[in-house]
Amino acid sequence: MNLVTGNILWTGINKIPNKYSYLSDDIDCEVLIVGGGITGAICAYYLTMAGIDTVIVDKNIIGYGSTSASTSILQYEIDTDLIQLKGILGLEKAVECFKLCEKAVYDIEEIVNNLGNECGFSLRDCFYYTDSNSDVTLLSKEYEIRKRKDFNVEFIDEKKGKNMFSFPIKAGIYSRSGAGEIDPYSFTHQLIDSSINNGLRVFENTEVVDIKQASNSVEIMTRNKFKVNAKKVVFATGFETKEMIENRTAILTRTFTLATKPVENFEGWHNRAIIRNTSDPYTYLRTTSDDRIIIGGEDLDLGGKYSKISNLTNSDTLSIDKFQILNNRLLNLFPKINNMEIEYRFSGLFGESQDGLPYVGEYEKYPNCYFCLGYGSNGILYAVIGAQLIRDLYFGNYSPILDLFKIDR
Ligand SMILES: Cc1cc2nc3c(=O)[nH]c(=O)nc-3n(C[C@H](O)[C@H](O)[C@H](O)COP(=O)(O)OP(=O)(O)OC[C@H]3O[C@@H](n4cnc5c(N)ncnc54)[C@H](O)[C@@H]3O)c2cc1C
Repeated sequence: MNLVTGNILWTGINKIPNKYSYLSDDIDCEVLIVGGGITGAICAYYLTMAGIDTVIVDKNIIGYGSTSASTSILQYEIDTDLIQLKGILGLEKAVECFKLCEKAVYDIEEIVNNLGNECGFSLRDCFYYTDSNSDVTLLSKEYEIRKRKDFNVEFIDEKKGKNMFSFPIKAGIYSRSGAGEIDPYSFTHQLIDSSINNGLRVFENTEVVDIKQASNSVEIMTRNKFKVNAKKVVFATGFETKEMIENRTAILTRTFTLATKPVENFEGWHNRAIIRNTSDPYTYLRTTSDDRIIIGGEDLDLGGKYSKISNLTNSDTLSIDKFQILNNRLLNLFPKINNMEIEYRFSGLFGESQDGLPYVGEYEKYPNCYFCLGYGSNGILYAVIGAQLIRDLYFGNYSPILDLFKIDR
């Protein structure tokens, strides 16, 4: 499967900061993390901060999987509306999921402050809106429940919307806290760098091809036939993990993204808030620390590993059409922003669970292993929550939050 394809923003604007050798020896460690994307890097950060002897291996190079194509919107709201999630989990647990995501945004802010590198991070407001009359009731109910549960939200009607945005809306929820944006590639590398100072060992071009469980440890074999003996293994292998955990996991889609060159103003875009609409699939927008605009959406169902969509390239007419639709949409939304020139066009595979929640924790088929799979549009926040839960699990502390994120739920 082509996890990412096209001219990709984050690896385009960042140089590869560090290269790492492949594993060329048998080694031991306390925790082996398989996967050096943003999830593996966040896990490495929390584990090494806790003094755990940790190794990370990636079959490719650090941050070049789905991480490189991530829009990296960080927001307390989950793709599954609070009302819907309430129907699945009950009100208190649904609210807990939203609150966990809200906290994770501020955990990232704290990490970024500790790293001493901004990694393109900014706190932002976020705006969830509809331009269709039929979704107004849905949004107002969603607003009421969030307000009641102390989220910092304001209901925006058609009239108020006119003073905030250059595009017409029928209704929206404007949230004044619990959201942000980051450069995922830079963040991944900064996390790895910082963890190396805490003892992390990193090996690129090192593919795990076999796993053998013993009663108190796991031995993994690399493609080059070296062994890593670990007390625990964390699988942070992203959307490719679908096959390891059978049919329980994700619905895979391909999502399309455009990024402009830096623009001169953001007229018609209130506070550069993160924007998402209620369409299915929805359109999402954010800005970057170097004043670009990112717009994404137009998701297509994958339909299997060998399907056309799975292996689509940028030059395929389907991709060209999707990029054109997004470009037109951007021009319609922000007619007052001058000279919006598209510089990056790319698409990436995206996995989502039925309830929009991640898969974190143990799985009976793989003793002494943990999974950290941030499926859903809050993947990065889920990685933060998951990494903290896994660290605690390693020390024998089982949090009830893990019940919400169980693989076999
Ligand atoms: C287009 C797109 C938009 C997104 N937008 C957002 C967003 O706005 N907000 C948000 O929070 N999240 C978003 N996400 C999701 C978030 O970015 C994901 O959670 C994240 O990219 C997945 O990161 P990861 O580190 O788990 O996976 P990856 O980045 O794919 O890393 C997994 C790594 O595991 C390695 N690997 C796999 N198998 C093996 C093996 N056998 N041996 C060794 N290494 C192996 C791979 O080489 C890869 O580098 C988006 C994702 C995509 C694709």
